[in-house]
Amino acid sequence: MTDYLIKALAYNGQLRVYAIDTTETVRKAQRIHDTWSAATTAFGRAITATSLLSQSLLKGGNKMTVKIMGNGPTGTIVIDGTASGDVKGYLKEPHVHLPLNKQQKIDVKGAVGSSGLLEITKDLGLKMPFTGQVPLVSGELGEDFTYYMAKSEQIPSSIGVSVFVNNDNSVRTAGGFMVQAMPDADEAVLAEVEQNIANLPAISVMMAKKTIPEEIIYRICGQKNTQILDKVEISYRCDCSKERFAKSLASISPADLKLIIEEDHSAEVICHFCKKKYVFTEAELERLVKDI
Ligand code: ZN
Repeated sequence: MTDYLIKALAYNGQLRVYAIDTTETVRKAQRIHDTWSAATTAFGRAITATSLLSQSLLKGGNKMTVKIMGNGPTGTIVIDGTASGDVKGYLKEPHVHLPLNKQQKIDVKGAVGSSGLLEITKDLGLKMPFTGQVPLVSGELGEDFTYYMAKSEQIPSSIGVSVFVNNDNSVRTAGGFMVQAMPDADEAVLAEVEQNIANLPAISVMMAKKTIPEEIIYRICGQKNTQILDKVEISYRCDCSKERFAKSLASISPADLKLIIEEDHSAEVICHFCKKKYVFTEAELERLVKDI
């Protein structure tokens, strides 16, 4: 089944609500990067949150890069998201497995670290990209993205992201939600929704019971209060190509390129995001030197 995100309005437009199933997307990410349990959960939550924010903050051909720079063993996590629903990412150390935390859950905070920065760069097709940065406030990631939305985008939100990891490190389910309050939102509505969110089981647990994104929104806002606006397909997709890597090789100095030709007679580059390997032959490298 294809992953998708649902956009909705609730309570006559007082709230914007998003719910997403990222099960296949996070499964693919786990397989590409061979992440272990704690890294899978952190990476999957970051992918889910980036997909939610991309659908809220981007339009048309816009894209964003999320960098989570925590002091934990996974190191920096990088996720790219687009308005069209493509997402891809990588992390410094995928082989992180930790003992369960006090709540008997996978220790995401332990993997990411509880101090560091969350940085988001939005390419809105303008001259300069926009970068916003906040300190990590939790390390569990849902709260960190919530804090970013309030602080950097001035949109009071509630974000929940969750990944259900099997014992063999593979992904059973993954998903999340985001609720945004419009400036005119009624206090009583906010209190009611807050209570519904507090009563909600983890999204990945709901998804393991076959709950779809539409139903998650109904659980948060009530079906009669909800107006579904849009459905967007989400997938892990890398747009790398040999031409693009040729361009980055061409940015190496001609002297260094010549050294690679003399010593190795070829160059091999691996895409960080999808691990695809590109080989440049001696003739191709010589053509690059000539073009520079
Ligand atoms: Zn790639």
